[in-house]
Amino acid sequence: MLLSNRIDDTTRILLVDDEPANLMMLEEALGELGTIYCASNGNEALSMAMELSPDIVLLDIDMPDMSGLEVCQRLKNDARTVNISIIFVTSYQGDEIEVTSLANGGVDFITKPINFNTCRLRVKNQLLIQQHAKSLKQAKEELHRLVTQVPVQITYWDANWVNQFCNDYSGTWFGITAADMSAQSISEAFPVPLGEEIIRFTEQSDGLAVQFDSSYCKNGQAPKYVQISVSKSIQEDEVVGYLLTMVDITSIKLAKAELFNEKERLRITLNSIGDAVIATDIEGTITFINPIAERMTGWHARDAIGIPVEEVMNLMDASTHQKSLNPIRLALEEARIVGMAMNCQLVSQAGDAYRVEDSAAPIRDSGGNITGAIIVFHDVSEAIAMSVKMSHLANHDQLTDLPNRILLHDRLEYACKLASYTSKKVATLLIDIDHFKFINDTLGHSFGDRLIKQVAGRISQTIGPNCTLARVGGDEFLLLVPNVIQLEDIQAIACNVTNVISRPFTLGGNEYNVSVSVGVSVFPDDAKDQETIMRHADVAMYRAKKEGRNRYCFFSDELEHQLMQRHHLEKQLRETIATRSIEVFYQPKIRLADGALVGVEALARMPAEGGGYVSPLEFIPLAEETNLIVPLGQQILEKACCHAVRWKELYREVPLSVNVASAQFSESDFVQTVVEALEGSSLPAHLLELEVTETALMDDTEKAQSILSILSDKGIKVALDDFGTGYSSLSYLKKFKMDVLKIDQSFVRDMLTDNSDYDIVKTVVSLAESMALDLVAEGIETEGHVQALVALGCPVGQGYLFSKPLPLDEFEKYLQKKLEESL
Ligand code: C2E
Ligand code: MG
Ligand code: MG
Repeated sequence: MLLSNRIDDTTRILLVDDEPANLMMLEEALGELGTIYCASNGNEALSMAMELSPDIVLLDIDMPDMSGLEVCQRLKNDARTVNISIIFVTSYQGDEIEVTSLANGGVDFITKPINFNTCRLRVKNQLLIQQHAKSLKQAKEELHRLVTQVPVQITYWDANWVNQFCNDYSGTWFGITAADMSAQSISEAFPVPLGEEIIRFTEQSDGLAVQFDSSYCKNGQAPKYVQISVSKSIQEDEVVGYLLTMVDITSIKLAKAELFNEKERLRITLNSIGDAVIATDIEGTITFINPIAERMTGWHARDAIGIPVEEVMNLMDASTHQKSLNPIRLALEEARIVGMAMNCQLVSQAGDAYRVEDSAAPIRDSGGNITGAIIVFHDVSEAIAMSVKMSHLANHDQLTDLPNRILLHDRLEYACKLASYTSKKVATLLIDIDHFKFINDTLGHSFGDRLIKQVAGRISQTIGPNCTLARVGGDEFLLLVPNVIQLEDIQAIACNVTNVISRPFTLGGNEYNVSVSVGVSVFPDDAKDQETIMRHADVAMYRAKKEGRNRYCFFSDELEHQLMQRHHLEKQLRETIATRSIEVFYQPKIRLADGALVGVEALARMPAEGGGYVSPLEFIPLAEETNLIVPLGQQILEKACCHAVRWKELYREVPLSVNVASAQFSESDFVQTVVEALEGSSLPAHLLELEVTETALMDDTEKAQSILSILSDKGIKVALDDFGTGYSSLSYLKKFKMDVLKIDQSFVRDMLTDNSDYDIVKTVVSLAESMALDLVAEGIETEGHVQALVALGCPVGQGYLFSKPLPLDEFEKYLQKKLEESL
């Protein structure tokens, strides 16, 4: 406590009197006010005062060696004792002695005879005054320390803004110390604009106090921000001064600015990102909504803020249309990031539905307490539509929009699995458009495409809802029929398919008759796995083609057997090619008039495993299908050319005919292969004749024409084999540069018994004559054939009558014999 009425316990009182009785009296009167010390003369008093530093000295004025006044003077003259309070005690009466005492530095005056109470009261008062003065001094010091230490500049100005006080003793605020500031005007002490602003604000205000924020720059440094408070001191209605405090708020200001910038950056980010953003408080009430979210919900920010999030974000399941829980609720309840439910749909105020995706997260303050939540979502409608479209595209054929192989595979797998559980069957019908390649090549691809679409449409209309019709190739469809109980049902479906296609198709204003061949394979009867099912359907379809097309054919054990054989044959064929072990037999061509040898046809033979040979009728079609005919044909050509050169050298020149399959013919380097075979063997070109079939020419007539003329230019002859079995169109014949026609053996064989065959042979003979083509009749087995052919005018023939195709050594013997005959 700074101020108190209690006398300090440590109070020391020095009594000075030459009369011991007085000392005793005074000691008795003052004993309770402190510790009493006594001196009986001036010198003793001085040394005791020096030693004890008493709080108060009661000093007798009238002493023999040194008067009290002198003692007082000496005490006052010494810095160590100057502050000791002195009360004079004297028997003198009157104003004069009082004045003298007080003038000599006394604080009070007690007269003798001493009144106990008055004396005690006077000393007590003095002690209290002393104590109060001490406390005040201490308080003043503390206040000074406080004022110095506060991080606030405190100044006091008189009514004219002249400085009276400043607590900035070191001049840290404006580089001017408190001492220097004293008596300076505010505009001298402070930066001028600041000083002027303070005066203006203060004088404009009617109140006693005014507060405002300001700033100033010191020596080109960064601005300092201050909060200024001014309170007016009023005396008798007049302003007599101003107390001014200034607080440095730079760091607060900068932090606020930083916070504002941060908030602004966030606001701009949220407003400009492509996602919708909604923020809520801890109650789920909207506090922020960005423009994308405004657009998607149909709510304007000014209406949405303050509304529960569910009202603005109308979320529901896209399939069931049942209301969905807003992820914000879960995020708030469970204090975690929550993903939006799958298949979620947002319905706007206007009723527009958006498929949305994304997540909500709680927002926490710096103490980790949840203060709200934020949800970020985006419209995935387009992405979903696109993925549906992509998945459709990936699983469907573009032209017909029918399922493709991928989807078929899935459905077939599922159907087979189901059938295994239910003991039912699954039928696969492979449907192939007959002669589609011809249609496509002759009428154009867009025509072909339109036809495929119409065929797909017709078949689709005949099948049940459980069936799948897939497009599995250019002109191939696969019809999957699940849950089959009896095979008759499949038969009916297959029959329907062929029937529905046999009705004419109208394309480009014309009617076309189209047919399909259908191969049927049944799970689990014919195969237990998908791959085999499909393969068996394929085999059955080929059988249907072979049997004359426009029909269906079920897969059977016999077909299976054929299939195995085919596999075996293909393997053999590959081995034969790899080991170059194909053999060439030779069948002579005879001039019918005199039996002379005019040429030879090379006929391929593949050595069979157990001895003997595989017929070309078996392996050539397979080689054509597998395209193995290209390397095989090349080997045959090379071997035959070498043999012909050998004959030329050993016996005589024999014109050589080599069969060429259409696949070989359409190879881009076909001519090159022929030329190389000739060059490799050194066989003169005029000794080589190539036998081609009509199909080889029909594939690409323009290309065929150019090949034929190149061959002709090189002196190589070309024969049209098996004439009469194909299209045998006169207009075609005229287009191609040909040398020889070969009448197919089927006509020759029956020409003596079948009039129409005879007529055909006759027609071909006259055709050859009129077109100046050489003519060879195949399959001459009897003399009767020879006579009939000679009678018709056919010059050359080949057949068993003259010789079967012979292996090289036997043919060479034949040659030898022929040479000998001719000699
Ligand atoms: P192709 O070119 O019409 O050959 C004539 C076929 O008739 C040969 O059958 C021959 O053995 C047979 N043949 C000859 N004279 C008679 C006869 O008096 N009566 C009967 N019934 N048949 C006779 P091969 O050798 O079995 O050849 C069959 C077909 O295989 C050939 O018919 C040809 O189209 C094809 N071929 C044979 N060798 C080759 C070849 O090296 N390359 C190509 N691409 N095809 C070949
Ligand atoms: Mg031939
Ligand atoms: Mg032939």
